Amino acid sequence: MEVHPGSCLCGSVRFEVRGPIGPVVYCHCSMCRRASGSAFAVNASVQASDFRVLAGEDAISEYRSSPDYVRAFCSRCGSPIYGRPLSFPSLRRVRLGTLEGGREPTPCAAVWTRSATPWYRDSGALEQFEEEPPARYYGFEPPP
Ligand SMILES: [Zn+2]
Ligand SMILES: [Zn+2]
Repeated sequence: MEVHPGSCLCGSVRFEVRGPIGPVVYCHCSMCRRASGSAFAVNASVQASDFRVLAGEDAISEYRSSPDYVRAFCSRCGSPIYGRPLSFPSLRRVRLGTLEGGREPTPCAAVWTRSATPWYRDSGALEQFEEEPPARYYGFEPPP
């Protein structure tokens, strides 16, 4: 049995996926960009029956972003938790950045790339730092 634990940024919402994680896609659509505040969202389908909220159910808020789609997030820290397509009630679209450990799923596709922001670059094409970069990369100078 695969178990994938996950949580939001503040830790109020904890959940686990007890079962396989479906194909992992990077979604560049304009809604995922806004919902994640990033270049793309990393999403995968799991069976709703495999998705269990362990703590913080009361902190989860849902937003209906389109007629068929509901996005759930932590109302305290704003972390996206899952999406819920109303026409496929047996599915949850998990936001993979919220997972911590478990078997690592392999990304297989980038989707809605026509909507990708023009400033997006594959990370491999950028300068790499394994940890904190020099302060100038955040746009400020280090203290004297
Ligand atoms: Zn939170
Ligand atoms: Zn999307």
